[in-house]
Amino acid sequence: MADCIFCKIAGKEIPSGMVYEDDRVVAFKDLEPQAPVHVLVIPKKHVESILALQEEDKELIGHILCEVVPKLAKELGVDAKGFRIVANTGEDGNQTVKHLHFHLLGGRSMQWPPG
Ligand code: 5GP
Ligand code: ZN
Repeated sequence: MADCIFCKIAGKEIPSGMVYEDDRVVAFKDLEPQAPVHVLVIPKKHVESILALQEEDKELIGHILCEVVPKLAKELGVDAKGFRIVANTGEDGNQTVKHLHFHLLGGRSMQWPPG
């Protein structure tokens, strides 16, 4: 999608600290990390948020959560102590980039409730 920063990152039009890529998914380091490990896992195809997901996307989301995230957690060394997955959605979720992304945060103890 034109003018979407994450589509441009997925298409390598702009550089990012990419840590993972396959045919449907990329993961890259967050520009403003909130934890020692903070990467964003995104589908290459433009989907605005969880609310825009379609029936046909179920396999893609399963791939991200069941395969890509556990693989990355191991590679980034946060599997043993744990981590947090966050998908900010919409206005109250404080979603700032309108291309679905999963934050993978780890390397420190997380607090609850979040801000
Ligand atoms: P949101 O607030 O939408 O859940 O998260 C968007 C995230 O994208 C933020 O954590 C922000 O730091 C990150 N971000 C925004 N623009 C860029 C960019 O151009 N490159 C990278 N690597 N991260 C970005
Ligand atoms: Zn996009």
